[in-house]
Amino acid sequence: MSTETFGSTLPWAEPPWYTGRPSPYYKDSHRHLRKVVRQWVEDNVRTEEWEAAGEVPKEVYLKCAKDGLLMPIAAGRRIPREWYGYPIIGGIKPEEWDGFHDMVSWDELYRGGAISSIFVGLTVGAPPIRQYASAELQSKIMPQILSGEKRISLAITEPSAGSDVRNITTTAEKSADGKHYLVNGEKKWITNGIFSDYFCAAVRTGGPGAEGLSFLLIDRYLPGINCRKIEIGAGKLSATTYITFEDVKVPTEMLIGAEGGGFRFIMSNFNHERIWIVYQALRGARICLEDAFNWALKREVFGQTLISQPVVRHKLGICGKKVDALQAWTEQIVYELDNLTEKEGNRMLGGTTALLKVEAGMVGKYVVDECVKIMGGLGLTKTGQGARIEAISRGVIGLIVPGGSEDVMIDLGVREALKLSKARTAVGSSKL
Ligand SMILES: Cc1cc2nc3c(=O)[nH]c(=O)nc-3n(C[C@H](O)[C@H](O)[C@H](O)COP(=O)(O)OP(=O)(O)OC[C@H]3O[C@@H](n4cnc5c(N)ncnc54)[C@H](O)[C@@H]3O)c2cc1C
Repeated sequence: MSTETFGSTLPWAEPPWYTGRPSPYYKDSHRHLRKVVRQWVEDNVRTEEWEAAGEVPKEVYLKCAKDGLLMPIAAGRRIPREWYGYPIIGGIKPEEWDGFHDMVSWDELYRGGAISSIFVGLTVGAPPIRQYASAELQSKIMPQILSGEKRISLAITEPSAGSDVRNITTTAEKSADGKHYLVNGEKKWITNGIFSDYFCAAVRTGGPGAEGLSFLLIDRYLPGINCRKIEIGAGKLSATTYITFEDVKVPTEMLIGAEGGGFRFIMSNFNHERIWIVYQALRGARICLEDAFNWALKREVFGQTLISQPVVRHKLGICGKKVDALQAWTEQIVYELDNLTEKEGNRMLGGTTALLKVEAGMVGKYVVDECVKIMGGLGLTKTGQGARIEAISRGVIGLIVPGGSEDVMIDLGVREALKLSKARTAVGSSKL
């Protein structure tokens, strides 16, 4: 087993397996990938420049495709055979790509701050097409998306339906000749919406409730579509968008899967979306700890360094143990998902990934709050040694509400656990 070390030597600044500790999960290809992605981020990410310009240049997105970042991001933890021809960063073989490659690449990309925001639409918008769209629709759309030529986002939430997905009101009425749907309604807080060419949108094609929902791929340039940016506190480059649809004619070939399947697609898509938010929490917390340790080792207060103060060490110790516990739980779930089919993963781990995401939000918030205090005034300052912590403290709520709000996720976690318990009891009693 490898004991190779990598990255920062400060406590908790890197995952345990970066510090030479053995792990059953990581192989040479994961070690190679972390090095390549870290270098890619160093060479290509220009957060300050992009934030000043208000966007990440289109050429950067195209470069991401060319350098082999886009396709694996769209794929997640398994690369479908029909995508084997696209480049993969670090030259990882497509058949070897697993959930830990996905985790490593996101973890390293999150170190680059702003770059990750341009992939949000892709990571949540591409899976419904890959899993449920017809072969014809996939072969038409996916090459445009995976080459970086066109972009996509996932449009589910509406002003009056967020957590309550069953109550989506955007309608898609089929024309009498069956050639198109007429779409009317609004979508709110759609990440990457403004620069997307396609919306993977949840619409109502049938009656009330979950059974009436479907997924439609909507070309952003069709007449009747309007987009405007919503200003949010953090994540300036994620282009959070308000979309309105007014009598938009969408060809029926753009239906993803069968009519009425939308609710099931939305629910199954969440496992990866939630885990990917967990990766963000983990790296954010480690960045905070790295900068807080750096500062605590040199800042002198009342004649001694901060690290000499038991209260400061206590704060860092509590943060460190929370982050490593979250890392271990996450790795366990990634391993389990790698060893289950998509369907079984959704059935067995939907509730657990919801709870994991809740824990990630709690740990992320706890760690950044403690690190802001250790930094003193620097923790509130957008430049200098506290800048990364300041930015993470503004963005931390993004771990807690999007992708399933904390209270709703806890409730879902318990309901799913009861469902599984009931199923096990039924099997157990039938064996008696
Ligand atoms: C920055 C950002 C990016 C986003 N990106 C996207 C995107 O790309 N695509 C997309 O479709 N959506 C996106 N969203 C929307 C996001 O998923 C919703 O905001 C989220 O699901 C919560 O919905 P809501 O805002 O309508 O809150 P509501 O559903 O109104 O809930 C408000 C609060 O009420 C409480 N609550 C509600 N229901 C329950 C319950 N059953 N049990 C206990 N408590 C409850 C919770 O505390 C919850 O936080 C994004 C949101 C933000 C802020």
